[in-house]
Amino acid sequence: MNIFFKPMNGSILNKVVLVLNSNYTPLHICATKRAICLYYLNKVDILEYYKEAAHSPSISFQLPSVIKLKKIIKYNSMSVILNRKNIVQRDHHTCQYCGISSGPNTVDHIIPKERGGGDSWENLITACSPCNLKKGNKTPAEAGMTMIKQPARPNRIHYFQQFMQQNQLNWRPYLFMEPLN
Ligand SMILES: [Zn+2]
Repeated sequence: MNIFFKPMNGSILNKVVLVLNSNYTPLHICATKRAICLYYLNKVDILEYYKEAAHSPSISFQLPSVIKLKKIIKYNSMSVILNRKNIVQRDHHTCQYCGISSGPNTVDHIIPKERGGGDSWENLITACSPCNLKKGNKTPAEAGMTMIKQPARPNRIHYFQQFMQQNQLNWRPYLFMEPLN
């Protein structure tokens, strides 16, 4: 089914939606636009809504905030995909050497690749360009640099919680958080 919404709704159609597996395990985050499509394809049930609605010439649709798949999918629910975006998110967009959080970030191999350092949550951290340049092909000790904290594999629930903002308080119970009163 094709739904045409007014262009003015473009931004609200990109609000974040929490996607749960059919057993209520948090799976991922998608945009409201995608969530509405999945709903019309009869793939999901809507559990929570935003206050805002999207309007087309013929229908009005209250924006989903939490959706649940009708069919379970097999998934390692505790793993977060290792990629640049998720490393930077784990490190709160902050250079792990100097603490600067403004400006573009790079991802640094703590033990350089050429020296056997792998692509792992424990060996990849966020670094600003000057720090990355300064460190070059050295280990932090050799470069005389220290890390703000030892990098670790992120917890998936913590990862979802980072997406939760003031207007998504209804996500809390699905992320094992106490409701706020
Ligand atoms: Zn830096």
